[in-house]
Amino acid sequence: MTREHVVQAMDFFGETAGVQMDPSRVARNQVTLRTLNEAIDANRADGVIAFRCECGQLGCNRLVPLRRAQYEAVRLNARRFVIAPGHVVAALEHEVERHAEHAVVETHRHTSDFAERTDPRSAAAH
Ligand SMILES: [Zn+2]
Repeated sequence: MTREHVVQAMDFFGETAGVQMDPSRVARNQVTLRTLNEAIDANRADGVIAFRCECGQLGCNRLVPLRRAQYEAVRLNARRFVIAPGHVVAALEHEVERHAEHAVVETHRHTSDFAERTDPRSAAAH
C-alpha cells in the first residue's frame, strides 16, 4: 500500500465518521495509521523519526518523535500503539507506558481482535 492510498483511506474514514468517538471507526483509523508508520523510511536507523500519532481520533495530526528502536519495541506487540501523551481512547485501550513525548497504549482484551488481525507483521493478517 502506498502512502497516497493510505491518505485516501483516512479521508474516507473522515467523511463517514458522523460520531466522533465511534470505537470501531477509531480502531480502523488506528490500523491505517500503523500502516502509514510502517512505511516510514527506515534509513535513519539511529535518528529520531516523526511518527504519526496512532490514537485514531478524528482530526488528530500530531507527530510523535521516536527513535526507530523505540517504535520497533512497541511493534513487537500487535495490541500496542504509539500515541501522543494524553491521546488515550479509553473505550478501546489503556496506557501502558508514558514518556516525555509519547505514550504507548494497549487495546483491551475485548477490543484487541481487530488490531491483531490487521497487524501487517502478523501471520494471521494474511
Ligand atoms: Zn492523537
